[in-house]
Amino acid sequence: MSPSIEKLLIIQDRDRRALQLDLELKRIPGERAEVEARAKAATTRLEELKLKAKQVESERKELENQVGTKREQINKWRGQQLQTKKNEEYQTLAHEIQNAEKEIFKIEDKELDLMDKAEKIAAEIKKEQQVLTEVNAVALRQRDTLGQRETAMKAELEKLKAERGALCKDVDESVMSRYERIMRHRKDSAVVPVQHGICGGCHLQIPPQVMHQAKSSEEMVTCDQCGRILYWSREFEPAAQTAAH
Ligand SMILES: [Zn+2]
Repeated sequence: MSPSIEKLLIIQDRDRRALQLDLELKRIPGERAEVEARAKAATTRLEELKLKAKQVESERKELENQVGTKREQINKWRGQQLQTKKNEEYQTLAHEIQNAEKEIFKIEDKELDLMDKAEKIAAEIKKEQQVLTEVNAVALRQRDTLGQRETAMKAELEKLKAERGALCKDVDESVMSRYERIMRHRKDSAVVPVQHGICGGCHLQIPPQVMHQAKSSEEMVTCDQCGRILYWSREFEPAAQTAAH
């Protein structure tokens, strides 16, 4: 293997790792948004329940006021009953009082229903508060982990960039620009081994002459089909053939 191929393979290894890191870094904002969305959803659920509890409580208070008003009215009517000397008026007041008392019963039934409802909501709030506490604790850990991962990946990228810069200095400029052009185009790899007579990039057959050139390692050869730089590697040749060379 020619020295420049060897160096290109190391550069390629760093570049592929950098591409992988880039992809993972791009996924971090999405992952972060998911964490925040989960925490927000739990907070919203709790807020909605608390609002519902408030509404039920104010409905109950309103009913309580209605009962109070009716009781005052009843007391007033009772006073009037004591003062009146007319039997007819007394009976009318008695009838009004009876009706008002019936209405009070009905309102108090509704109040009991609302108290039931309030109790259920209170239990839900308690449960949801626990859920929120857990969700927040998980979110805290996840934010931390994401931050650590991001920092580590950025640091590794910087290191790779520095390493790459140093490695590139030893490679011929024309070779380097050829490599970079192929890498930009192919994304995955620019330098590939000939594996059992097949290009390691596009997996198509290599003509014997090209294979011979790759093997001799005198000059840099490329695959006719995909344009990737080829190198011959002993590890992909059958054992008998390897022994013969
Ligand atoms: Zn190819």
